Amino acid sequence: MITGRYVLYLTCDCRDCAELKALATEIGVGSLVKPKLEVFESTSRTAAHEKAIEAGWQISKNRERATAPGHIRARRKKS
Ligand SMILES: [Zn+2]
Repeated sequence: MITGRYVLYLTCDCRDCAELKALATEIGVGSLVKPKLEVFESTSRTAAHEKAIEAGWQISKNRERATAPGHIRARRKKS
């Protein structure tokens, strides 16, 4: 029997979180500000992603960016 465990760490990449972090860094308290972080655990990478999406996270297709529930995704240059 094969058992697997996959832990997915998601941090929010929305514009508000990024701006807050940049502002905090500017005034020298960057280490105190962390973007929203949530951890999802499941049996596989796909299942962990599904759990996150069910919880309201938005994950980009290339899985490089994530947006927390209720946060607004940064706009692309195109739009
Ligand atoms: Zn955010």
